[in-house]
Amino acid sequence: MNTVKTLLVLAVALLVTSACTPLQFDEAPGGTPVVQEEAAVEAPVTEEEPGSGPTSTPAPAETPAETIQEPRSLADLREGGDLDRLLSITENALIPGGNDHTDSIVVVFEAAYYELTGLTLEDRNITIEIVSDEDYDTMKPSKPQFEDSAGFNEGVMGMDGAMRRSNIVTTGERSIVDVLGGVGHEMGHVKDAAERGTLKQPYELPSGCENNYRGFRETVARQFEVATIRKIQEYTNINLTEFSDTGENRRRIERRLKWVGGSRYGFMNILSWLALVDAPDHPDAEGFDPALKRLKDQLGANKMLSANELIELSDHFIQIPLPERCSYVFDKKSMLPLYLHTIQEMAKSRLARYMTEPDGLDGLQKYVP
Ligand SMILES: [Zn+2]
Repeated sequence: MNTVKTLLVLAVALLVTSACTPLQFDEAPGGTPVVQEEAAVEAPVTEEEPGSGPTSTPAPAETPAETIQEPRSLADLREGGDLDRLLSITENALIPGGNDHTDSIVVVFEAAYYELTGLTLEDRNITIEIVSDEDYDTMKPSKPQFEDSAGFNEGVMGMDGAMRRSNIVTTGERSIVDVLGGVGHEMGHVKDAAERGTLKQPYELPSGCENNYRGFRETVARQFEVATIRKIQEYTNINLTEFSDTGENRRRIERRLKWVGGSRYGFMNILSWLALVDAPDHPDAEGFDPALKRLKDQLGANKMLSANELIELSDHFIQIPLPERCSYVFDKKSMLPLYLHTIQEMAKSRLARYMTEPDGLDGLQKYVP
């Protein structure tokens, strides 16, 4: 009888466990949760053994602990209405002495990040801090020690060498979409640096080409920033990516989608477009890249890249080796007179009639392919 009782209790416990976390296993093929539960039960046994021996080596191969820590999925956040609730808030993400939505923002960001990359913040050793303007200014002086240690500055992104963690600090005294995009931007820098192997290493910008180099880097970050919002858009009814067809928006596109010299930010929007419209169409052509050609076709067909396509574009950029980035920017810039009009018209054709933009909508969506 006792055994039956115990089994029943176990069965109920298992049911409760899986009912609490049904969507954490979204990415896993059906049936695996059972395997993970078994593995999770085994894990403590391994831990009881004093580590360091050869038996501790297989431990990292057992990833169930990580799997269980998967972030809530965007589908889950949509289902519960949490996502729409958060995105329909029009006040700032953080009001000193008042409301604080930053915890929810991190949950949503991590869900989007996981869907875009298959990684958790822990996988990248990332800490996100969303702070008040006052705290941000206080923290800023401590950041120069990290400046350019991984090629970042602005006090927004810092590397903590001792902790071996990346630390994203951003201000919460702005709209929720702006904060989400801002964190996404810095994650773009992390991805770029991590994948080219300079995340923990200082390096020098090639002299005479600093702005080209920094602009390239900002282009990658911007692609990731916009992809974050477009990914979230796939799961919400709140409009985050469509803009009204007004004279002002048309003028803004013309002002932003051109090449502004002397600033690292001056060409980060246009460089993404140029990479696509200038991509060779024919397999025999020099520099033909089938992945880029496909993205170019997608842009032509849909006027806009999806979140995943933007990540593919950022991967294309990240793969370009450091020494080649400077001349890459020069090459693309030389093609600008040929394509500028086409690019601006394509961006303007995405403006929608009879559309009202919600407060705090991230206008950056307008400027990225
Ligand atoms: Zn940046």
